Amino acid sequence: MKNTIESLEQAQLMDKNDPVGKFRNEFLLPRNGNSPLIYFCGNSLGLQPKRVKDQISQELDKWEEHGVEGHFKPAKPWITYHEELKKNMGTIVGAHSSEIAIMNTLSVNIHLLMVSFYHPTPQRFKIICEHGTFPSDLYAMISQAKFRGLDPGKVIIELKVREGEHTLRTEDIVEAIHHHGSELALVFFGGVNYYTGQAFDIKTITEEGHKAGAIVGFDLAHAAGNIELSLHDWKVDFAVWCTYKYLNSGPGGISGAFVHESHGNRADLHRFTGWWGNDLASRFKMNREFAPAPGADGWQLSTSPIMLMAPLKSSLEIFIEAGFENLVRKRKLLTSCMENIIRSIAVKYAGSIPIRIITPDKDDERGAQLSIVIKKNGRAIFEQLAEKGVVADWREPEVIRVAPAPLYNSFEEVYRFGKVFDLVLEKEIAKRMLVEIAN
Ligand SMILES: *Cc1c(COP(=O)(O)O)cnc(C)c1O
Repeated sequence: MKNTIESLEQAQLMDKNDPVGKFRNEFLLPRNGNSPLIYFCGNSLGLQPKRVKDQISQELDKWEEHGVEGHFKPAKPWITYHEELKKNMGTIVGAHSSEIAIMNTLSVNIHLLMVSFYHPTPQRFKIICEHGTFPSDLYAMISQAKFRGLDPGKVIIELKVREGEHTLRTEDIVEAIHHHGSELALVFFGGVNYYTGQAFDIKTITEEGHKAGAIVGFDLAHAAGNIELSLHDWKVDFAVWCTYKYLNSGPGGISGAFVHESHGNRADLHRFTGWWGNDLASRFKMNREFAPAPGADGWQLSTSPIMLMAPLKSSLEIFIEAGFENLVRKRKLLTSCMENIIRSIAVKYAGSIPIRIITPDKDDERGAQLSIVIKKNGRAIFEQLAEKGVVADWREPEVIRVAPAPLYNSFEEVYRFGKVFDLVLEKEIAKRMLVEIAN
């Protein structure tokens, strides 16, 4: 298959030959009345798998039939409900099941794992992160520093891109890690940056962080279910992610956390603990002394929120059925088709409307998302796209994000997006000419 789409017929043929194309039918696709929308916002909120309703309904039935005994009595009791989720999630992020916990929400998990993995000493207290992290991550780092009685301005090192560039160079990240070396307590990076769509080199960052004697953790909100990850093999110390983006668990869905095997049973780590993190064998003995469950489960605090786990269970099953490596293959092709369409449009309008993709052009430096910067009237063009049925999003100060998700987006949608984008730009030019004439 080539990564250009010349015609509607070609796009439809590519869909027909797409080995994971049939999974689109597993999802409820948003519409505006009777007209289908082109949904490219799976990086913000993934779509609803059709089987979610039935999955939730099954749990409601258990509740109806068994009441509290639903925890133990049914064929699939709630007490072990998380186990299948851990296993399937582990497959997607490259971790052993025992290294995964399904719990809380993302910002909460950032805090919990920073409690365990940010250990400032008078010599080692710095945290390195990318400049322009998602606000929650920055707020968490600042408040964690203050909580330890430290000055966030001295603790947090935010790495900026070079003048005139949009994404960080790995060599500059490595350089910074070496530079702060012996003062570095933690490297806390995104997996894929929410604004630029840049996928960071997690393996290299982890290796270099470890060489400097630091702990290395990642926020994988935009990476989980999007790019290939090998958290265990890369020896990442910890990671956290939400599951409502590429992993389609629904608004405010339950979050994931990874704690590397090498830390899973450490008694010396600080933890904020709760009874659900106690080993199951003694959990209901209600002992005064906390006996952590082995592995990541030991970080759990509260009773499993089954109604939040049910949608994630459905979605993860679809990922496993489709095969994550197949989705990654399609994602690369789909994104690169989209990129080429946008680039040819950018060439067409180069004289009048400067359009530029700031996301890296290499497959292994990005996921599904492309971030488009249109210098003048970007926001108005985004709004026009929305009016014409393209669901993308706008991120201040100047980016339109589009993310074709391989599980449910089609080559035809990518092709149609190109047509809509072209039309919107033509109109924008006509509008500008009118304004000029009027002046
Ligand atoms: C989406 C996202 C969040 C959101 O956090 P919630 O606690 O789920 O609201 C945080 N960090 C990053 C990097 C994100 O992309």
